[in-house]
Amino acid sequence: MIEQSGGDQELRRELERLRARVVILERVDAERQEIAERLREETRVSESLHRVGVQLAAELDTQRLVQIVTDEATGLTGAEFGAFFYNVINDEGESYTLYTISGVDPAAFAAFPMPRNTQIFGPIFRGEGVLRIDDVTQDARYGNNPPYHGMPPGHLPVRSYLAVPVISRGGDVLGGLFFGHTRAGMFTERAERLAVGIASQAAIAIDNARLYSEAQDAHARYSYLFEGMADAILLANNDSRYIDVNPAAERMLGYSRSELLDMRVADIVAYQRTWTDAEWERFQRDGVWTGEVELRHKDGHHLPVEARASRVGLPDGVVFASVMRDISDRRRIEKMQREFTTLITHELKAPLTSLKGFAQLLQRRREYDAGAVEVILGRTNHLERLINDLLDVASTDSGKLSLRRANVDLVTIVGRNVEQARTTSSAHEIRFAAPRDAIVGWWDSGRLSQVLQNLLANAIKYSPLGGTIDVAVDATEDAGHITVGDNGIGIPAGALPHVFDRFFRVEAVAHSAVQGLGIGLYIARTLVEAHGGQIRAASTPGRGSTFTVSLPYNA
Ligand code: ADP
Repeated sequence: MIEQSGGDQELRRELERLRARVVILERVDAERQEIAERLREETRVSESLHRVGVQLAAELDTQRLVQIVTDEATGLTGAEFGAFFYNVINDEGESYTLYTISGVDPAAFAAFPMPRNTQIFGPIFRGEGVLRIDDVTQDARYGNNPPYHGMPPGHLPVRSYLAVPVISRGGDVLGGLFFGHTRAGMFTERAERLAVGIASQAAIAIDNARLYSEAQDAHARYSYLFEGMADAILLANNDSRYIDVNPAAERMLGYSRSELLDMRVADIVAYQRTWTDAEWERFQRDGVWTGEVELRHKDGHHLPVEARASRVGLPDGVVFASVMRDISDRRRIEKMQREFTTLITHELKAPLTSLKGFAQLLQRRREYDAGAVEVILGRTNHLERLINDLLDVASTDSGKLSLRRANVDLVTIVGRNVEQARTTSSAHEIRFAAPRDAIVGWWDSGRLSQVLQNLLANAIKYSPLGGTIDVAVDATEDAGHITVGDNGIGIPAGALPHVFDRFFRVEAVAHSAVQGLGIGLYIARTLVEAHGGQIRAASTPGRGSTFTVSLPYNA
């Protein structure tokens, strides 16, 4: 018995040990199962997220994209209904909100007001963070806002609530994902993690879709411009081979696009002009060249074009983009203008010269009214000056203006012209300030006198009788300078940049009795620039004008 009972005890203890082990094993097994379940869960979460991610990455249409996001997120979080409110910016730059829903009849939903800036919705649209509430009806933040103090009539009877902001890479709040359930406590931490994961994938996908549509828009705009431009555009690569041309280029040159893409720049240029070193250097520095070129049309005729070539760095290399405009019409008109001016002036000059000769003859014979002869002579002199000016314009325009340079003294030249002006106009006081020493430069004294005569004539014409005109000459290290200042009517600020333009006259002056063709200053500028110099005008309207001429000694 004793033995037996001893054996019983042994057995019982053994049994207890075994039971304890079973308990432990059961617990271990439960834990193992739990871990396995968690692992499966984790896998499911990441698989789901991955699946959603793959779907989203393939979708570039925002509307479809957000629908996928909403459906997937609603399914994965176990929500009864889900919505995605997202902000869109229309072409006018206005922001408005669109939404997609899942788990509810869209028709029923359409009647709802848009989410308002309540304590429940506001934080999401401000991107402040996730909101997960087990029972909204018990939550302190809920029901505080008028007019509904709770859910608007007809709202889904939400109790469990989960909301996640969708934030772009750039930090903008793109919208918010909202989930609801009619029972309380339905959204777990896992649901929250899923929703957050989907929200970040949605943000990336929406960003991409936006970038894609912007890139498409930009591309469409670019093609539209390129195709529709009236100017020819030709893109060449580093080997001067054309890689793209627009329809205007095809029209201008008579070649089709595919023909042009087989050609090089040299194939369409009629005269191969070598670039000067200075031109090449400038192009290297600025990346831009502007000039006129002759091109050869497919049918063989030549056409002058104004071209502007720019070096453009693209991600896959450098291209040279030229914009070209046919200037045949302009050239024709210019030629006609030149011919007309030359013809007219020559035709006028011959009779005028004989007229002048006869007037001088009459003057010498003293047989006629001296006063009348004086008038005839005065008028003929004036006409002669005008015609000479016109001839100068004609030769300037055709590039035929030449200088007869010599070592001459500016003080003497200016002094002589001042003297002459004093004798012709006694109604003005002309003062002259000059250094004692000569200012010698390599200039054309006749042309410089012409500049001075123009400036002095203007100073006299555009200032009142009795006015003062100040002429000064001085020298700096590399140039001689002349200033002619008057206290006359002055020049309006808007007209100042144009006074040196051909045929330009200030509006009020053009309508006054003061005579002129508007070419004196144009000629003056041309002559000064031919000397490598500069002429500038400054003025205080009503108080007078000052013209400054600078002439480098040796340009
Ligand atoms: P114009 O034959 O008309 O004098 P210019 O080319 O010499 O032609 O001058 C162009 C215009 O500039 C003039 O018409 C006038 O309006 C203005 N202008 C030139 N010089 C003066 C000046 N000293 N004072 C005021 N206006 C001036």
